[in-house]
Amino acid sequence: MMHTCPECGSTEIVPELLVFADEALIGQHPPYVKLVEPKPEKAPFIWSPKSVATGFRAAICGACGYTRFYTKHYAEILEAHKKGYTSQAFDLKTVTV
Ligand SMILES: [Zn+2]
Repeated sequence: MMHTCPECGSTEIVPELLVFADEALIGQHPPYVKLVEPKPEKAPFIWSPKSVATGFRAAICGACGYTRFYTKHYAEILEAHKKGYTSQAFDLKTVTV
């Protein structure tokens, strides 16, 4: 959590801001990251990967405009990362990455 601006030293920080994307006209779906479980070697015939996802908040310095993005779900993201979950495109056939 940012309490003091690393750029100017101000403590006039505006936290807890949602980060939105331009194309999210309906529903206000903010951008997010998603980590997906790797497929195990002996996956059952019907298998769907577990995943964790988080959006971002922004904190903006009210004195100079410095902006930091952060998530409140860092513990879940770290746990998934340690289990080998990775960030992946949803559908490689239709999504250009
Ligand atoms: Zn500042």
